Amino acid sequence: MYDCENCVRRLDQLVDKELSGPEVEEVHLHLGACGDCTRRYRFQEGLKRLIRVSGSERAPDALRERLREQLKA
Ligand SMILES: [Zn+2]
Repeated sequence: MYDCENCVRRLDQLVDKELSGPEVEEVHLHLGACGDCTRRYRFQEGLKRLIRVSGSERAPDALRERLREQLKA
């Protein structure tokens, strides 16, 4: 059974497009059934986009924290 822990560990790779086809399917299968992980996925994607826009390797810690707080709310 594909659990949340497994899924979360792969979200990073999914966003970075580092997963193979079958792995991507597995993650999406879980995302379709799990609201929590879908939220985490959106968070990761949003973060990735911000990083791309800002052109830096990683988002500033403050920004990252703010996003995390929003996610909890
Ligand atoms: Zn999950």
